[in-house]
Amino acid sequence: MWGAALWKMIACARRPERFVLSVEKLFDVLIVGAGCAGAAAARVLAEKGRQVLVLERRSHVAGNAYDCLNGDGVLIHQYGPHIFHTNLRPVYDWLSRFTRWRDYQHRVVASIPDGHGGRMQYPVPFNLTSLETAFGLEEGRRLGEKLLSAYGPERKVTILELRRNPDPEIASLADYVYEHVFVHYTMKQWGQTPEEIDPATTARVPVFLSRDDRYFQDACQGMPLEGYTPMFRAILDHPNITVRLGVDALDRLDVSGDALLVDGVPFSGPVIYTGQVDELFGFRYGRLPYRTLDFDFETLPMDSFQTHGTVNYTVDGDFTRITEFKHLTGQTLPGVTTIMREYSRSYTGAEGEIPYYAIINPENNALYARYRALAERFPNLYLLGRLAEYRYYNMDAILARALDTAEAI
Ligand code: FAD
Ligand code: UDP
Repeated sequence: MWGAALWKMIACARRPERFVLSVEKLFDVLIVGAGCAGAAAARVLAEKGRQVLVLERRSHVAGNAYDCLNGDGVLIHQYGPHIFHTNLRPVYDWLSRFTRWRDYQHRVVASIPDGHGGRMQYPVPFNLTSLETAFGLEEGRRLGEKLLSAYGPERKVTILELRRNPDPEIASLADYVYEHVFVHYTMKQWGQTPEEIDPATTARVPVFLSRDDRYFQDACQGMPLEGYTPMFRAILDHPNITVRLGVDALDRLDVSGDALLVDGVPFSGPVIYTGQVDELFGFRYGRLPYRTLDFDFETLPMDSFQTHGTVNYTVDGDFTRITEFKHLTGQTLPGVTTIMREYSRSYTGAEGEIPYYAIINPENNALYARYRALAERFPNLYLLGRLAEYRYYNMDAILARALDTAEAI
C-alpha cells in the first residue's frame, strides 16, 4: 500500500497541476490500461477485496475494443472491427455477467476483379463454396473432391501446408488461393509475404474444406448487446475500482532503477502493466517493431453498402478490408450507414499512432525477451496483454490470461 497523504505531499511537491487527480484512498493494486487485460484483472482483484487503481491514457475505457455512436448515430468500432468468439466457456460465462449478447456469426468475403471489368466475391476462409465460385460449379466440385480425399472433410489446411502438397493439381490450386487470397492482402497488412511472416498468422485464416462460410467456428460467438464500451463500464463498475482516464501511468510509475516506484515511492503491491513493454523501460534496447493502422471512416446516405460485415480486398486496392458496422451491431438505422477502410503501415512511434500488431519473428522475440528480463527483476510487476506480452492475442485469450493472472495474485 502507499499512503494517500504521502502521495499528496509528493504530488504537490513535484506536480502541483496534477493535484486534482490525487486519490483519497489507499490502493493495493495499480493497473495500467483499461482494455481487456486491465479491466478483467481489475474486476477479479476488486471482488477479492483489493483496492484497485486503473490508469488509462485514453479518454475512454475498453482499449482497442472501444465502440461509440458517431455523429450520424451509427455505432462504430473506433479501432477496427471486433467480433467476440471463443471456445473458452468460462471466459464467455464470466463476460456474460456484464452483458447480454446479440447472436452474430461473422462472415467475410474476398472481393476480387472477375477479369471482365466487374468483381466477384467468395467466402474467406476459402472453402468448398469459394472453389466453385472461382472455378465454376463442375470443376470446383471436382477439385473439392480431390482436396477432401487428400485431407478429409471439415479439415482446416493452412495455405503454407497446401502449397507443399506434391500433387500438381493441388499445388496449382494452392497457387491460385495464394495469389487471390493471401499474398497481396498479406503484403498490404505486413509489408511481407506469407512465407516471411509468422506462420501462425496466416494459419488464423486457413483453407477450410467445408461449406461452413463463417469466419470463426468457435462455440460461443456474438456481440455485446449494448456494445463493448457499456460492457467494459460494467466490468469496471465496482466500489473497489477507481478508474482515472486521460492519465499516462508512466508519469507515476518508474521502473528505471532497482526499485519499482509509484509516485516516487517504492511500491511492493501488484502492478499489472498492459502497455508497450519497450516504452515502460524508456526504449532502452530500442523500439519493438509494430504495424499500425489508419482507419478511414465514411458515412453514406444508404441503408446498406455491402453484403457482408467485412469485405476483404485480397488482390487490388491499397486498403485491406472494408467493414460496415451495421452488419456487426445489428443496428437498424434507415438511410444511413458507416463503413471503414483499413490501411496498414509500419508503426513509427509518432504522436497519436497506436501500435496494433506485434511483428512476431525470432529477432523481435529476442528483443522482447530482453525487455521481459528487465521486468522480471520486479516480482510484483506483471506484464499482461497484447502489447505487454508482444503477442497476437484475440480478446478471449487475453481475458483468460487476465482472469488467471488476477486469481494467482
Ligand atoms: P488494449 O486493448 O490495447 O488495451 C491496452 C490499454 O492500455 C489501452 O487502452 C492503452 O491506452 C492503455 N495504455 C497503454 N500504455 C499506457 C500508459 N502508459 N498509461 C495508461 N494507459 C496506457 N480480437 C477479437 O477477439 N476479435 C476481433 O474481432 C478482433 N479484432 C481486432 C481488430 C483489430 C484491427 C485489432 C488491432 C485487434 C483486434 N482484436 C480482436 C484483438 C483485440 O483488440 C485484443 O485482443 C485486445 O484489445 C487486447 O486487449 P489488451 O488489454 O491487451 O490491449
Ligand atoms: N489473410 C489474408 N487474406 C485474407 C485474410 C487474412 O492473407 O483475406 C492473412 C493476412 O496475413 C492476415 C492474417 O491472414 O494478417 C490473419 O487474418 P485475420 O483476419 O485473422 O487478421 P486480423 O483480423 O487480426 O487483422
